[in-house]
Amino acid sequence: MRLTMPIRLTIAAIAVFIIASSSAESDAATWWKGNLHAHTLWSDGAVYPEQAVAYYRDRGYNFLALSDHDILARDEQFRAFDAFLDDAAARAGIPQEVARSGFPEGHDGRVWINKTQRAAANQRGGDAEILEEYRQRFGESWVETAEVNGDKLVRVKPITDFRHLFEAPGEFMLMDAIEISGITPVHMLAVNVGELVTPHLPVEEPATAADIINANLQYVAEASWTDAHPHLVAVAHPNYMGAVTAEHLIEAEELRFFEVFNGHRSVRNHGDDFRKDTDRMWDIVLAHRLSDASGPLLYGLANDDAHTYHNVTEASSSPERGWIMARAEQLTPEAIIRAILSGDFYATTGVTLRDIRHEDGSLAIAVDAAPGVNYTIQFIGTREDADLSSEPVINPDDEPMTAPRRYTADYAANWEFEEDAPYAVTRRYSEDIGEVLLEVEGAEASYEFAGDELYVRAKIISDKTHPNPFAEGDVEVAWVQPVLPGGDG
Ligand SMILES: [Zn+2]
Ligand SMILES: [Zn+2]
Repeated sequence: MRLTMPIRLTIAAIAVFIIASSSAESDAATWWKGNLHAHTLWSDGAVYPEQAVAYYRDRGYNFLALSDHDILARDEQFRAFDAFLDDAAARAGIPQEVARSGFPEGHDGRVWINKTQRAAANQRGGDAEILEEYRQRFGESWVETAEVNGDKLVRVKPITDFRHLFEAPGEFMLMDAIEISGITPVHMLAVNVGELVTPHLPVEEPATAADIINANLQYVAEASWTDAHPHLVAVAHPNYMGAVTAEHLIEAEELRFFEVFNGHRSVRNHGDDFRKDTDRMWDIVLAHRLSDASGPLLYGLANDDAHTYHNVTEASSSPERGWIMARAEQLTPEAIIRAILSGDFYATTGVTLRDIRHEDGSLAIAVDAAPGVNYTIQFIGTREDADLSSEPVINPDDEPMTAPRRYTADYAANWEFEEDAPYAVTRRYSEDIGEVLLEVEGAEASYEFAGDELYVRAKIISDKTHPNPFAEGDVEVAWVQPVLPGGDG
């Protein structure tokens, strides 16, 4: 019989696990703070892109990826600001030809117009106050306005126009990113891209979420820019609208990243009556991938998915909810992406780590403990002989919830309605999956591999309430990436 209860050790008992503070590998490496998921007026965010960048830069972040929906913010566009100054009805009524009139010759405006109208209808498309703050911060001469066919327009500047205002070696940098969204709620982040990545539906319809994920992974893998740009592609907020289940992620065999945490209000990180939380999904995927020794590790990101930066309320999808810390010698897109690709990063909603050490058959964690805060370090894993069988979730009518949503090209017409549509849910699995192998109270802990673990990851849970939580009562936590037992990594 396996020991299924977590082993609790006191702080005194773990004092023997002193984590060495010197190592050739990490002497020159530094932890860099960054957010890979944020929105601006390039899509449905509420602020001009410079305002979003300033927000993160002012708060000590080292890197930021503006990941607007289906657009690489290096293109040109204009945005009608008359509408932002009018009432909500007028905001929703921007005629397409007005919006289009701001586009330079040859620009394909279709995606932009759709997003503008949606943002405007949600009243997230900026208002007089945001424009005023934009003028105040960056100066009257920085704000470019034009009048086209009688409509007043404000230029939403491309990254290339403003990055020099913010970037400084070793302090702060921007990375080119896109949230691949298209017409379905299956969203993916592509970070440090060389070109626009347009959303891809599989050739065969109707498609499942897994088909969509795989089609986009394949599209990026085959793109001509990928060799010159180390990049990452992640599944965003899997529980958003019940879009992605653990089984979908298992089917996406080449997927390397997903958001274990997303700060947007609608994404159900903690699951609900039927859906599993993202931590549980992670273990289900890892156990299946590694049980046949073929799949790569799946790494978990924490991202803000910020849309609102001013006048933030509890209901806002606001910044500083979750981020990643990547360990690299230099602050360059290449170095940061390579660190993330190799798993040398952690995801956090506030807990800061001093060190993560995977060597000599152990995984050791040292928290940069804040005064007065207590920490619980959990080592979580699945063993080789784990029961991987599963049962469907049963709905209140006693029926198995087995109808995965499928998408066709005309799915957009049903966008609003789909919130209540039947959704796919992750099946129920044995408690063998994602076992707490060791639980330690304190700021340092080390786990010695028994050798029969498929993988081990760590989660650090503090007793400090998050100041701007995803959900009421959330405490600050951190997630250390899974490792294979034995080897260094
Ligand atoms: Zn999204
Ligand atoms: Zn997003």
